[in-house]
Amino acid sequence: MKVSDPCPFPKEFPSQLMKDSNFFMQHAYNQSINAWNADEVPVGAVMVHNEEIIASAHNQTRTQKDPSAHAEMIAISQAARHIGDWRLNECKLYVTKEPCPMCAGATIISRIKEIHFALVDPKMGGLGGATSLHELPQSNHKPNVYAGTMEKECKTLFQAFFQLKRKSPS
Ligand SMILES: [Zn+2]
Repeated sequence: MKVSDPCPFPKEFPSQLMKDSNFFMQHAYNQSINAWNADEVPVGAVMVHNEEIIASAHNQTRTQKDPSAHAEMIAISQAARHIGDWRLNECKLYVTKEPCPMCAGATIISRIKEIHFALVDPKMGGLGGATSLHELPQSNHKPNVYAGTMEKECKTLFQAFFQLKRKSPS
């Protein structure tokens, strides 16, 4: 199997009956499968406003040839367009991997209320894993950050992608 083959992990079928963090992370997880199927690093994100998903995105750095086209950045732009304001202080972001410093910075600049991520990134995580941009002492916006929802599933998928990638570098 090559990494360019379709993602071997099945999508989740989130139940509308329980709109909890697991529900929204399942949607983000499904976006990460879309990323894999587009031969992108499998990270997915959704933005939630009034318990509704207003933006969904996956990594597109290769497709767009744009280093800033991370799932979170795309979801933030979509959400701002949807709301018609750059301030997203009533929004919650769900993402399958801890945001990098660029994306973590964007979550603070856009004043997102809550950030939930599945997998901690000790190398490049900007919200506690490698550094803690949400805890800058002089910053006047400090989002609430939650780690660990669907960690096992997201970690398994993420690691599988890179194992295949090492076997078949492109
Ligand atoms: Zn990022």
